[in-house]
Amino acid sequence: MSLIVVGSMAFDSIETPFGKSDRIVGGAATYIAWSASNFVKPVKQISVVGGDFPDSELQLLADRGVELEGVQIKKDQKSFFWAGRYDMDMNSRETLETQFNVLGDFQPVVPESYAGSEFLMLGNLAPGVQHSVIKQLKKRPKLIVMDTMNFWMEIAMPELEEVLKDVDVLLVNDSEARQLSAQYSLVKAARKIMEMGPKYLVIKKGEHGALLFHGDQVFYAPALPLEDVFDPTGAGDTFAGGFIGHIARTRDISFENMKTAIIVGSAMASFCVEKFGTTRLREISKEEIEGRIRQFVELVNFDIELV
Ligand code: AMP
Repeated sequence: MSLIVVGSMAFDSIETPFGKSDRIVGGAATYIAWSASNFVKPVKQISVVGGDFPDSELQLLADRGVELEGVQIKKDQKSFFWAGRYDMDMNSRETLETQFNVLGDFQPVVPESYAGSEFLMLGNLAPGVQHSVIKQLKKRPKLIVMDTMNFWMEIAMPELEEVLKDVDVLLVNDSEARQLSAQYSLVKAARKIMEMGPKYLVIKKGEHGALLFHGDQVFYAPALPLEDVFDPTGAGDTFAGGFIGHIARTRDISFENMKTAIIVGSAMASFCVEKFGTTRLREISKEEIEGRIRQFVELVNFDIELV
């Protein structure tokens, strides 16, 4: 079992109705690694950081079983920086600032030691960069999962369309699915997106759960009703880490197993939002994760007799 994770490693500045963070460590690949490493080791990370990125953060990831040979450190440059603000409903957020810094001219290099990996998770990054990683792999992974965001649909649609042809599973939220397909109905949007390449599509709906589409089949998983949501940043990436982590651990890429992977992803995301940044992900134990997955099973389990 081997998993490559690609994506941003960053500093984030976050405002929610409950508080404001200073520059804290974030980035799509950071969240994915913290989440996926609960299920699969090593996680083979590909990213880029500046000289300002703390060594201690890299060490913590390494201690967890995240291989960092594919993480470039540009000593004289600054790490990617993103600032965002959430409304009271926490489902909509506004990007206040994006400083690409090291990500601006990032050219990922897949280390020799990552060759032959069975699973590839393309976290949020420029689609051209995501595609370059696929092209560098001599053997196609068993499953390629990709995340993206509205930002790339606005500035890099042709590149996004190209990489979509080469991936198996796409993860997007509902508004991104609508934007990508130009369809309001999520069923029509899913059909259109699956014609663009991915055979599987996961549409995340924040506190309203997630949908999995494949051909004419649909599966729905709720989100756990939580008393407190402090910071939704990284929830999508943490979901992705749980999803691919479960699949890489079980090495089963069937639709049935993807249903379980959605539950695992949702459980992981429910931890992420409980504290700012990656704080909660650093604390959770195997027992807590299992307990939460059990809560999901309880949430949707009922008996019905059809007459
Ligand atoms: P999520 O809340 O799961 O959608 O992801 C939030 C993370 O995405 C933050 O930690 C940001 O650092 C990162 N991020 C935001 N915008 C971009 C971008 N354009 N490219 C790569 N990563 C980004």
